Amino acid sequence: MSARAGVVVTGTEVLTGIIADRNGPWLSERLRDRGIDHAHTAIVGDRPEDLRAALDFLAAQGMDLIVTSGGLGPTEDDLTARIVAEFAGRPFVLDAALEGRIAAILERLTRRWPDVDQEAIRAGNRKQAMVPEGAEILEPVGTAPGFVVGSAPAVVVLPGPPRELQPMWEAAVRTETFRAAVAGATEYRTGMMRLFGIPESEIAETLRVARAGGVAIDELEITTCLRRGEIEIATRYEPAHAAVYDAFAAVVRERHADTLFSEDGSTIDQQVAALLRDRAATIAVAESCTGGMVAGRLTDVAGSSAYVRGGLVVYSNEAKVELAGVDPALIERFGAVSTEVAEALADGARARLGADVGVGVTGIAGPGGGTGDKPVGTVCFSVALDGARMTRRVQLPGGRADVRDRSTAVALHMVRRVLLEAG
Ligand code: ATP
Ligand code: MG
Repeated sequence: MSARAGVVVTGTEVLTGIIADRNGPWLSERLRDRGIDHAHTAIVGDRPEDLRAALDFLAAQGMDLIVTSGGLGPTEDDLTARIVAEFAGRPFVLDAALEGRIAAILERLTRRWPDVDQEAIRAGNRKQAMVPEGAEILEPVGTAPGFVVGSAPAVVVLPGPPRELQPMWEAAVRTETFRAAVAGATEYRTGMMRLFGIPESEIAETLRVARAGGVAIDELEITTCLRRGEIEIATRYEPAHAAVYDAFAAVVRERHADTLFSEDGSTIDQQVAALLRDRAATIAVAESCTGGMVAGRLTDVAGSSAYVRGGLVVYSNEAKVELAGVDPALIERFGAVSTEVAEALADGARARLGADVGVGVTGIAGPGGGTGDKPVGTVCFSVALDGARMTRRVQLPGGRADVRDRSTAVALHMVRRVLLEAG
């Protein structure tokens, strides 16, 4: 039996969607890494009775562990520590030594603001040093300490800002309380396969084929999802079933040889980066309907300044001509959304920015832009490399955001293909 855990994300701004929850999903992955079954995430506003109700619900469900995020700040609406103390049946007490450590942090921070109300700071400091009696303290990353307390369920209390929560989680998992709570956790392995350019229904068929072929896939926990046009097959399994996973992966490899692009967890962005780096090749983009999103993805990788020359956002025809050097006669003859113009954009990006690889993207993403012959979602791509070129016209489903997102993925996958084929 695996240990089971629930997450409680607090904050009215998260409940209402003003801020998208980054902690629930992040914690879910960390729990999964440790073989702990994540059963629920509850999102509650900054109201004591709602937080308490969420904790009671998770306890009633038999969780071994509860992780909370947020509500540890110095202000009145930050009430997580007090509610967790009540929930754990512990007195809520001042930790004087902790108060001193927080004061030292605050002193460094407030030196820059000599005029702030010192009394208010002292009050906030004191509030943040209140913890349930007997809790194991997690030292502040910002100014808020976290803690781990109780058993069956043990509660891990973490601050809301992700840059504080993430490092503090690493401290939480080292505490005695945490280790005792998840002692029974089964060890799991995980596998990730990523495919591009096939519908999800194909994977369903592959699962049937694998089963019919005698692969015991019921021993695996397989989750498939469609993200940015890519299919991710995430699998969790016990080490004893490693051979089953290998057999399953072999079936996927055989049936989807041309669309399976990653088996080691790497993303398309990382793969393109590695291919460019290995070949010491530079890249430049000229994009219309994606408005800089391809350049955005290319530059969102550590070390990308070594090989990304830059990107031209050429939305209007004038910009295509003036910035990317597209021949106006081509636009006149074939239209701005055409494979001919996509090629001219790829060539223009290469020439104008002096790159080895040029990428051109032109399409119709928005409503109202389509025609009978070129409906919304028509996008033309070209990737040019010395002596090699790949050009495609595709029809993508969905609204503006979907078309732009998918187009960006198509462009990156074409770059990968061209680089692999060029050797
Ligand atoms: P602080 O001392 O900063 O108040 P806190 O522990 O009280 O820390 P919250 O008040 O709940 O945390 O959140 C502070 C800020 O952290 C939020 O306004 C938001 O910007 C960010 N944040 C909190 N929770 C989340 C979350 N689940 N996902 C993403 N960001 C979050
Ligand atoms: Mg707060």
